[in-house]
Amino acid sequence: MKLLIAEDDTSLRNLLKLYLSRWGYDVIETQDGNEAWRALTCGDAPRLALLDWLMPGINGVDICRKVRAELKEPYTYIILLTGQHKEEDIIAGMESGADDYITKPFKSNELRVRLRAGRRILELQDELLAAQEILRARASRDSLTGLWNHAEIYRILVDELARAKREDTSVSVIMADLDNFKMINDTYGHLVGDSVLRLASERMLSLMRSYDYVGRYGGEEFLIVMQGCDWKDAEGLAERLRCSICSEPMDTPEGMIPVAISLGVSMSRPDNRLDANSLVKAADMALYRAKGNGRNRVEMDG
Ligand code: GH3
Ligand code: MG
Ligand code: MG
Ligand code: MG
Repeated sequence: MKLLIAEDDTSLRNLLKLYLSRWGYDVIETQDGNEAWRALTCGDAPRLALLDWLMPGINGVDICRKVRAELKEPYTYIILLTGQHKEEDIIAGMESGADDYITKPFKSNELRVRLRAGRRILELQDELLAAQEILRARASRDSLTGLWNHAEIYRILVDELARAKREDTSVSVIMADLDNFKMINDTYGHLVGDSVLRLASERMLSLMRSYDYVGRYGGEEFLIVMQGCDWKDAEGLAERLRCSICSEPMDTPEGMIPVAISLGVSMSRPDNRLDANSLVKAADMALYRAKGNGRNRVEMDG
């Protein structure tokens, strides 16, 4: 693990470096506060720091204050190295945001175990952040298909509409619904139905540009959000989506099953802005017409 030393006393700095390297730390040496602050704020900065209190430039206590005020994540664990032994000094040092302190002359064993405690805190924080990230990803994804879930695709639509308004562009929405899906479930079973949903999602995803979004809006319903395209582009994508589903039967555990999808398209344009709710409703109405007009087809709003 990377460790920053900031110490202006050369012989003490050399001694620290000797110990720390021996204990396996990847040591970054600095001689004053300004240099230390630069090292703490560069890319891939050390997250464990051993700071002398009194040194030229910014002193150790002021670095602590700056770190706590300006650097949020990931956490930097700071041990102050100080010649001050008085209780009020130590309290002031800790109140500046230091996690721990060691008084000079230091005992090497004490330094070693205090650093180990700091490392443990940093490792726990990493685990916590990783767990948080997994939860965040899980909360926004549909577990069966991996697509954005209902709440997330709606949130994306609201965001994209706000962006389109700022940038004076359009947003298109496609509401897509698998045809006669109940019959697939009834004929082959629910698990095969699930495979069809996954395969249909994969086929649709493969057609998306990096800035389009596809979510599972309901059981066998998908909502696609596209930024900055006109009616022709939107109709073109809807038509490609339709073809991708019906062009080849789906390879399921119960054999090859032909599947089709109906799609409705709506659009919010600079000259006719719709809110998320109206846009989804309009796409839904167009989809309803696609079903009524025989399924496996695209209908445009209006
Ligand atoms: P239409 O062409 O008019 O859309 O007919 P449909 O049969 O596709 O529509 P309907 O609304 O009658 O049936 C949809 C079915 O989708 C009913 C429901 O049990 C099924 N379904 C919803 N969610 C899931 C799921 O997660 N897995 C499976 N296997 N089936 C699902
Ligand atoms: Mg000093
Ligand atoms: Mg359906
Ligand atoms: Mg449906």
